[in-house]
Amino acid sequence: MTKLFTYNSLTRMAFLMLTPVFFRALGFAFIWHSIYWGVITWVAIIWGCLILISPLVGKVGCGWVCFFGTWQDLSSQRSVLKTSWHKPITWTRITIIVAFFATSLIFFFIHVHSGMIRCIRFDPGFLNMNFDDHCKHVWVYDSAGAILFGLLLDKRWFCRNLCFMGGICAAGAKFSRLIPVVDTAKCNYCGKCDRDCLLKIPITRYMAKNDGMVTNPECIVCGKCVESCYRKAISIEFVWNRKEYRVNLLHDVPLSKRTGFGVSPVAEKRQTAACLK
Ligand code: SF4
Ligand code: SF4
Ligand code: SF4
Repeated sequence: MTKLFTYNSLTRMAFLMLTPVFFRALGFAFIWHSIYWGVITWVAIIWGCLILISPLVGKVGCGWVCFFGTWQDLSSQRSVLKTSWHKPITWTRITIIVAFFATSLIFFFIHVHSGMIRCIRFDPGFLNMNFDDHCKHVWVYDSAGAILFGLLLDKRWFCRNLCFMGGICAAGAKFSRLIPVVDTAKCNYCGKCDRDCLLKIPITRYMAKNDGMVTNPECIVCGKCVESCYRKAISIEFVWNRKEYRVNLLHDVPLSKRTGFGVSPVAEKRQTAACLK
């Protein structure tokens, strides 16, 4: 697992190079065209599957596949404005999701009404893979936009606030079973993982609040935090039952030794009782 981020980086670089070749299959925005024409295409199948597995393995599409996210990660290393962690802005996400589906569905119904299409049909290759002039332009604009967002605002600000796909995958990832977990007995609360996280997720807060389970739906399961912790306190694990995980931890290590936040004996008793309920 310590090499997870190496595999993640290699995979993302591979997809970054593959995306121009299979742009219409990997560029998530082409889902709009699939709905517009009422066709189940490769892009709808691929991203549909990534959405479906998000309650199991989190936002892996965003962390391992999406070229737009990778461009932001690369360029945000030099970003001008350093923002602090904040929760995604819900209203922008909802507005963009509604606008995306409303506009594509309106065109779909117009096409049905005018007789251009009869029903939804299965034709994965409908959006052909030719990287023609039109697509080249779109890819260049998309890539330039992602790089610009990364240079201006760090740590995937666009993904957290403006991307419709990010919002949909995050809704599924709320229930993800694959999450980073911190061994609070090994951690010395240096905060390096917080600073290095590609999404700026405040990992150390999850030690005090959540027994080390980083259950943040924005996590892209990249493994950067695992690599950055020199005490090897973080790993990415399947946690099937969060309540059970807490109880097991409580039996193995006393709570007061697992938190560095000065938990009072009364609070400790209360937390222990709540977990064992
Ligand atoms: S949130 Fe959107 S732009 Fe960002 S990585 Fe995910 S799909 Fe790509
Ligand atoms: S980098 Fe490791 S030791 Fe430092 S706060 Fe994060 S988990 Fe703890
Ligand atoms: S918490 Fe770890 S795995 Fe999740 S996004 Fe941050 S660095 Fe990546």
